[in-house]
Amino acid sequence: MTSFLDTSITFIKGIGPQKAEVLQKELSIFTYQDFLTYYPFRYVDRTQYHSIKDVTEDGVYYQLRGFIVELDFIGEKSAKRLVAKLKDSTGIIELVWFQGAKWMVDKLKAETEFVVYGKASQFMGRFNMAHPEVNKVTDEFLIHQSAFQAVYYSTEKLKGRGLDSEGIRKCQRVLNSQLTPQVIIETLTPTLLSDFNLLPKIDALKQIHFPDTRLMLEKAKFRLKFEELFYVQLRLLRSNLVRQHITQGFVFSKVGEVFNTFYAHHLPFELTNAQKRVVKEIRADMCSGKQMSRLVQGDVGSGKTLVALLSMLLAIDNNYQTCLMAPTEILAKQHFETISNLVKPLGLSVALLTGSTKVKERREILEKLQSGEINILIGTHALIEDAVQFNQLGLVVIDEQHRFGVAQRAKLHKKNTQPPHVLIMTATPIPRTLAMTLYGDLDTSVIDELPPGRKPITTMHFKENQRLRLIGFMKEQIALGRQVYVVFPLIQESEKMDYQNLQNGFDELIRDFPPPQFQISIVHGKLTPQQKEFEMQRFIKHETQIMVATTVIEVGVNIPNASVMVIESAERFGLSQLHQLRGRVGRGADKSYCILMTSYKLSEDSKLRMETMVRTNDGFEISEVDLRLRGPGDLDGTQQSGVMDLKIADLAHDAQILQMARTAAQTILNEDPNLMNDENQILVHQLKIQGKTKGSWSKIG
Ligand code: ADP
Ligand code: MG
Repeated sequence: MTSFLDTSITFIKGIGPQKAEVLQKELSIFTYQDFLTYYPFRYVDRTQYHSIKDVTEDGVYYQLRGFIVELDFIGEKSAKRLVAKLKDSTGIIELVWFQGAKWMVDKLKAETEFVVYGKASQFMGRFNMAHPEVNKVTDEFLIHQSAFQAVYYSTEKLKGRGLDSEGIRKCQRVLNSQLTPQVIIETLTPTLLSDFNLLPKIDALKQIHFPDTRLMLEKAKFRLKFEELFYVQLRLLRSNLVRQHITQGFVFSKVGEVFNTFYAHHLPFELTNAQKRVVKEIRADMCSGKQMSRLVQGDVGSGKTLVALLSMLLAIDNNYQTCLMAPTEILAKQHFETISNLVKPLGLSVALLTGSTKVKERREILEKLQSGEINILIGTHALIEDAVQFNQLGLVVIDEQHRFGVAQRAKLHKKNTQPPHVLIMTATPIPRTLAMTLYGDLDTSVIDELPPGRKPITTMHFKENQRLRLIGFMKEQIALGRQVYVVFPLIQESEKMDYQNLQNGFDELIRDFPPPQFQISIVHGKLTPQQKEFEMQRFIKHETQIMVATTVIEVGVNIPNASVMVIESAERFGLSQLHQLRGRVGRGADKSYCILMTSYKLSEDSKLRMETMVRTNDGFEISEVDLRLRGPGDLDGTQQSGVMDLKIADLAHDAQILQMARTAAQTILNEDPNLMNDENQILVHQLKIQGKTKGSWSKIG
């Protein structure tokens, strides 16, 4: 027998096959459970009425009370609409229906008082309301008018089937009246309920849709958010436990000659304390006998490469091979050069494998990998192809993790009968809440310190009318011997236009910076790797002073003499991208600048983004603003994470509840790691139910 919550929504009185179909198609609502967790997005006070004369603001919702004094169809054919005049003691306002008019006209014919609720809009100097909610004034209706009336998100298609917010609310009321303790089983333990003073589930579900008071509404929200976040955390922490207990890891017990020689004689600089700490954390993982899955977060320029290298040396000391995977060819190449140089005195074998590696060379590399001759393999996605087989892979380092999908990571994981240790390095600082949720099953290290001597980058925001100033500034800096990046946005949907912009920008630059005095490199996605490399090299060798690029230089590139970053159409970039781009400068001894060029008129969001960039260099602060602006859905990596399944909790605002929920989950697992206690069977049951619908996205790393 289907349980109450699994019952099809077609059994709700008022939802026939047609309504059910749009609910399924538009909102993926199939069952009672889906419908009950279709939470309101806001609440309005419906106990108050406005006078018609007070309807004075465009786009604002008003609730009116009056009689219909005129009712007419106006216009022809497609422009045909129903217009009703509503009158109260202070004035008259027009109500308009373009669709569903037939159904409305019958309702409005009744000679009775109506309550009308809708958004006012100004038209030819007068206010009207299109498609307002209309109800006859009855005792029944007035009783249900609440000071906290739920408002539900609806779509045009839903509205066409009578499922506007009001329609949805009516169905919710029908369903709500059927909620009993027999059908709504509690999903949290008595201990949790009392420790956190939580409403019982059934009350929370009733109050969230039909709150009695503000206090009850707040309590309902808290309970439901807590539950949601609690289960996310319980799942993550459990899979972490499982990984630690079941997945054995190679034991790198030795700190041997390779590591020690490098550390004592070839370190290019003293490690920062943060680097030292993170290396220690990694070392501890590698000795633990458990498989490491560690995320290293560190702002751009914090020195993650060196941390990765030291970890790789530990693997080599214990007779394992290691690989480093980067998201772009340029970055892989750069890592290859940096690392080859650093380890040259150690006599290690380092190889580079990318999509453009020649067949013959590739064959050679693959052979040497299998024989174990190669110690360190560096590359792009090419590393995860099946043909790439190691002799004994002990450690995988993934740089700039957010560009790799979960599936790709999983594939790397399988490159050995026993999974290698995995180190993930990301320069995209993510808010703590998101990290806890996205990477809650990974161990996390943070490099929260930049190498000494870095000068903070000065960021300026110029608008189009200040372009002359920009050109002057660039010339000044070039005269001082500096180099300049000029970055244009490249957004796939309008690729053609973007390339046009890039080309136009390039042509303009040549006009403002004419040869032979000035030389300009250009790098974009349409070039072959060889062409890109050629252009990069010209810039690296300082044969060119300006490098025009699309976002290909977004990650990793390290050219200390380039001290000015100009970002064109900066309003088209997200905050984390802007921050990444800015991180390309400020790497040398010179004072560095980032200049954000935008059009003159900006949206509020864009303004806030520019202001944030100008105000701070702190990647974490920037990521918090980013999260608030965009919501977690648009942040890198969240799609596969399950974060998007959250129905009520909001990672941008519910950090405190998240922390509580995580602590609660941790406490339970500390006391009862296998969830064997009687009381915890509720949790086991709930995890099982959720597992069926959610899949196993948490198995990453
Ligand atoms: P990211 O964390 O962005 O990958 P990198 O590893 O590329 O940063 O390091 C950025 C720059 O800082 C490089 O030029 C690197 O040589 C330098 N660097 C790294 N660690 C230190 C340190 N401890 N002291 C001084 N410079 C360092
Ligand atoms: Mg890096």
